[in-house]
Amino acid sequence: MRLLLLSLLLALLAGCASGPSINTQYQAQGQNSRVQYIILHYTSTDLAHSLELLTRGEVSSHYLIAENPATVYRLVDEDRRAWHAGVSQWQGRTWLNGTSIGIELVNQGFYDGPKGRYWQPFAPAQIEALIVLLKDIMQRHELAPGSILAHSDVAPQRKVDPGPLFPWQRLAEEGLIPWPEAGAVARQQALFEAQLPDVAWFQQQLAEHGYEVPNHGQLDQATRNVIAAFQMKYRQANYDGEPDSETAALLWVLNNSASR
Ligand SMILES: [Zn+2]
Repeated sequence: MRLLLLSLLLALLAGCASGPSINTQYQAQGQNSRVQYIILHYTSTDLAHSLELLTRGEVSSHYLIAENPATVYRLVDEDRRAWHAGVSQWQGRTWLNGTSIGIELVNQGFYDGPKGRYWQPFAPAQIEALIVLLKDIMQRHELAPGSILAHSDVAPQRKVDPGPLFPWQRLAEEGLIPWPEAGAVARQQALFEAQLPDVAWFQQQLAEHGYEVPNHGQLDQATRNVIAAFQMKYRQANYDGEPDSETAALLWVLNNSASR
C-alpha cells in the first residue's frame, strides 16, 4: 500500500514537472464565451438510428433530445467542437461548428406523399425539454436572444431543418428569440401592400438580418431559398419563397425593433 502511494506521488510529481508553470493570479476582464450561437436540427430518423449516426459517424452534436421520454443526451462536451453545421454562415461569420452548440431533435422531418409534403410534428415534451436546455445554455454562455438559429438559417441552400413545424413562437414566448410585434407588422404590411419593395431590398434586409444571400437584385433560386428559410421561422403558414408584403413587414419590423 505504501509503495503504491509512493509511486502515485512520484507519478504526480513527474506530471507537474513536465508541464509549463503558469501563474493564474490575474484574470482579464476582456473575455467571453467562444460559443456565439445555438443551432437547432432534426435528425430525420428515430432515436436508435440518431444515436448511432451521431456517435459513430462523421456527424455529431452536443445534444440530442429524444421524443418520448424526452431524454436529453450530451454527446459532445460544450467546450469541444461538434460537427453539425457543415458549410455555414451567419452575420458574416463562417464555419459555425467552432462557435456554436448544436442540438439535434429526434424527428422524422418530412416525406413527400400523394397529398404533398408531410412534416412530422414535434412532441410537446421534447420542446419543453429543449426550452429548459436553451435557457441554461443561454445563461451560462451569456447569449443574446438572436443567437438561436435553425440549420436552415445558416445553410439555406442545403438544409430545411428543423422545418416549418418547429415552434419558434413558443421559444419567443419564453423570451429566447426576438419576435416581430403583430401590430407593427400589420401597419408595415399595409404600407408594403401599396408598394412592394424590390428584390434588392429583400436581399439587403435578409443580409442585415444575418443570412448569406445574393445581392444582385434578381429573384433567383438561391434568393428564394433564403426567403423560404426566413418564412419557415416567422410565417410558417406559407413558406413558398416568394417576396410578399407580409414577409417584407416581418423582416422590416425584426430588423428595426429595439430588442434586436
Ligand atoms: Zn441539421
